[in-house]
Amino acid sequence: MLKDDVTLTDEQKQVRALAREFAERELRPHAEEWDRDQTFDRGVVQKLAELGFLGMLLPPEYDGLGADVLTYVVALEQIAWGDASVAITMSVHNSLPAQMILKYGAEEQKRRWLPTMARGAVLGAFALSEAGSGSDAAALQAHAVRDGSGWILRGQKMWVTNGASADLVVIMCRTDRPGERRGPRGIGAFLVPTDSPGYKVGKKEDKMGMRGSETVSVVLEDVRLGRDALLGEPDKGFVYAMQSLQGGRLGVAAQALGIAEAALEHAIRYAGERRQFGRPIKDFQGLGFKLADMATRVEAARGLVYRAARAWDCGAQDPRLTGMAKLYASETAMWVTTQAVQVFGGYGYMKDYPVERLFRDAKVTEIYEGTSEIQRLVILRTLYQETTTEP
Ligand SMILES: Cc1cc2nc3c(=O)[nH]c(=O)nc-3n(C[C@H](O)[C@H](O)[C@H](O)COP(=O)(O)OP(=O)(O)OC[C@H]3O[C@@H](n4cnc5c(N)ncnc54)[C@H](O)[C@@H]3O)c2cc1C
Repeated sequence: MLKDDVTLTDEQKQVRALAREFAERELRPHAEEWDRDQTFDRGVVQKLAELGFLGMLLPPEYDGLGADVLTYVVALEQIAWGDASVAITMSVHNSLPAQMILKYGAEEQKRRWLPTMARGAVLGAFALSEAGSGSDAAALQAHAVRDGSGWILRGQKMWVTNGASADLVVIMCRTDRPGERRGPRGIGAFLVPTDSPGYKVGKKEDKMGMRGSETVSVVLEDVRLGRDALLGEPDKGFVYAMQSLQGGRLGVAAQALGIAEAALEHAIRYAGERRQFGRPIKDFQGLGFKLADMATRVEAARGLVYRAARAWDCGAQDPRLTGMAKLYASETAMWVTTQAVQVFGGYGYMKDYPVERLFRDAKVTEIYEGTSEIQRLVILRTLYQETTTEP
């Protein structure tokens, strides 16, 4: 049963309960099968849209829910509790393409894309990474050249979440000329409908975890686009992507929290059922202390993630706090799922029990949308800035 959280408003509690009920009914019963068969279920995406979960942060004028960031985070946490792969689909769609269009798009672009995204008719994706540029994202090579008033896109993107089923991908490409590379200041963000001639879905990755989520490479073979494909300024795409990744990181933090909470609940239940030496293993204090530590870390992670979300709702998008939330929640998810496998003993190592999947799902939260090392760099930079600006 979902525990009460007195720190949430009544509206936040309602959305949280709705997400939990959906996760229990529509996600949990299928999570094992989706993981085994690597199934991405577009029908579930449509059901998320019916709940309003694909336009959570969009204002009502674009058919969105107009929810605050904390409400979005608590909903995402519950969806991840049910199935982490579905949570990353929801997180990418809401936090990256939808927010990028809302924040940087022209009114015409917003009217064209946002209502259909909120209704689930258009699923969004985000393509920044390439084979040679991950953490060093500004080193990307895909490029866009002017074609009259429009653009032609060429290059390859890697690991695009939702990539094979998406209808619209925000793709970052170089707009500077080969002889005049401008690093992060020579990159544009383009709205690319996936039915554009020349847009080709490449290899579907066979992943360790999050196997119910699609991760594909994309090839851009002379993709011709009109002038309305460019988001904002032609050389600001990298800035837009980095700013939007702040929200993405909060989404990943919420996802990690949902995974950790699920693992903790499984471990507590199992510790009460499994008997060794004539008693339930929960009666051994060594094991009980492990559960207490797991619960404490999950609560600490929740405190940090919710605090980062509340800061957003107060108008302060603090990269340090978001980085800390992503770092701590993802490392907590990895630690708690590792302990959960231990509580299950040999059974925890088998695919028959969900903690094995949760352990695999947790790992990538330490990697995508900025690795743990990159989060530490972001945090560290702000510490140095604070020291040097002191009188
Ligand atoms: C399942 C999955 C889904 C993804 N979805 C998307 C998506 O939808 N869109 C998208 O654009 N990308 C996506 N990615 C890519 C993801 O964001 C990158 O994998 C991530 O940013 C890391 O880049 P990399 O894999 O190239 O690792 P690298 O950058 O090569 O890093 C390798 C190691 O070196 C460390 N490292 C690198 N630089 C430094 C440094 N300066 N200091 C200290 N350590 C450093 C890293 O932390 C890491 O441990 C996805 C990845 C995965 C696995």
